[in-house]
Amino acid sequence: MSKHQQDGALFFLPLGGAGEIGMNLYLYGYKGKWLIVDCGVAFGDAATPGVDLVMADPAFIVERVSDLVGIVLTHGHEDHMGAIPYLWERFQCPVYATGFTADLVRGKLEDAGLEDEVEIKVVKAGRRFKVGPFEIEYVAMTHSIPEAHLLAIRTKAGMIVHTGDWKLDPAPILGPLADEARLAELGEEGVLALVCDSTNVFLDGHSGSEAEVRESLVHLIGHYPRRIAVACFATNVARLDSISHAAKANGRHVALAGRSLWRIEKAARKNGYLKGVAEFLTDRDGMSLPDDKALFICTGSQGEARAALSRIAHGDHPNVELGSGDVVIFSSKIIPGNEKEIHRVQNGLARRGVEIVTDEDHFVHVSGHPGRDELKRLYALLKPRIAIPMHGEDRHLLEHAELARSLDVPEVLIARNGSEVRLAPGAAEIVDHVPTGKLAMDGGRLIRLDSPVMRNRTRMIWNGHAVVTVVVDKKGRLLADPKISAQGLLDPETDAHLLEEAEQAVAESIEDMSGSQRKDDAVLSEAIRIAARRALYDRLEKKPLTEVHLIRV
Ligand SMILES: [Zn+2]
Ligand SMILES: [Zn+2]
Repeated sequence: MSKHQQDGALFFLPLGGAGEIGMNLYLYGYKGKWLIVDCGVAFGDAATPGVDLVMADPAFIVERVSDLVGIVLTHGHEDHMGAIPYLWERFQCPVYATGFTADLVRGKLEDAGLEDEVEIKVVKAGRRFKVGPFEIEYVAMTHSIPEAHLLAIRTKAGMIVHTGDWKLDPAPILGPLADEARLAELGEEGVLALVCDSTNVFLDGHSGSEAEVRESLVHLIGHYPRRIAVACFATNVARLDSISHAAKANGRHVALAGRSLWRIEKAARKNGYLKGVAEFLTDRDGMSLPDDKALFICTGSQGEARAALSRIAHGDHPNVELGSGDVVIFSSKIIPGNEKEIHRVQNGLARRGVEIVTDEDHFVHVSGHPGRDELKRLYALLKPRIAIPMHGEDRHLLEHAELARSLDVPEVLIARNGSEVRLAPGAAEIVDHVPTGKLAMDGGRLIRLDSPVMRNRTRMIWNGHAVVTVVVDKKGRLLADPKISAQGLLDPETDAHLLEEAEQAVAESIEDMSGSQRKDDAVLSEAIRIAARRALYDRLEKKPLTEVHLIRV
């Protein structure tokens, strides 16, 4: 129990997602119990060398794990459920999701060998269920993946609406419309706090509809006489449906290139989606069709190096080859941070003579997040007393707070990761800041992103790394010449003279030391480290991370 918990008080506490787009992890606290909403990842970047996945450090809730009653997932995007295989062992609690999301989670758990460990409770939109002191109702929304829901979380202290990711798509292609009638009823019942998606708060108007993209794709695909590949997010099942529809309308058969597409396809068909879509071909079978009869849907719209599109662009895909006169349509947007990787793929395609179509050239994509008109509509339906923006960087949260104030929401509050907000009783207030942080999936283990390991790795990348080996006798007299290796800085073949000079400088500095200095291992090691760093700096003007192996015989 947190120190502020008292009977009847209701808390909101984001650990991830309030200050970045990605790695969502939110807590609600009531009567000494905690509920997790979403448990997602973010992707590594240049600032996290060697790390693909990053997630919120759940230490706060792990310390109170006996009070954790469950994890509720709003939808199946990686930034909302991708951390379950990595963090679940620390939680050991049931996971609640609707059918399609549950299947995606199961697929990830199978990869991790955890499919028999995790209890996944499949729930249905519209039915209320209890998790500890919380009563939860999933309400259908629309988004860029099937089965995105907002959560009405009822307690005796009031109802919270936690949106997850959403938009109000008037023609979402598959799945129900957002249940605006139910939202209006929730508004009538009384919403204490709305915790809401901020991703598209800078977008004026409406985010647009999947049905418009479908129409546009039908026309666009008709323009090209040769092979067509379309890159999109594998989880956007409505888009897969639309691309397939546009292909069929133009006499083409659809082949899938990329493992995650097959996985999503399987989960989609199992849950009743893609009903009107013919079985997909393998990429190999797609290549055996005449050029004007084939359309490939590819993974890799964000430039991911191992995905199908990147391999096609660099000519090393085992089955699919594109060349002069072929076209690749990016039915996606650039996620900020992925520009370089995407451009690398596009340059590879351009070198092969492939035409590239993006959302700058044609109407081939709509966002899954609400523009300002949709946000206003939700606030009008729910009439919350408190507004707390989430799913955004600081600039999104601030802009969203401004918008909520302009809509006369009585209390607007910005809660960043670690802010413990008391929602009731009384006015909403940040009552504490709890420690937060990020965990990096480094190879096979999770480590803190601010740990010495990651700090040193970044230093090594910028400054290089040197190891000095020194062998001395009991009195600290050198028994052999010091040896320096400096990976990433000096080449033992071409820079041998620089290494020898540095080794010589280290030897001389050891000879200059006093007898007592030389007898103490710790003192001697540190003196050697400083001497080696200085010797390397004099020659390279860089200060490498330097390590000493002192051997006394
Ligand atoms: Zn999201
Ligand atoms: Zn999403």
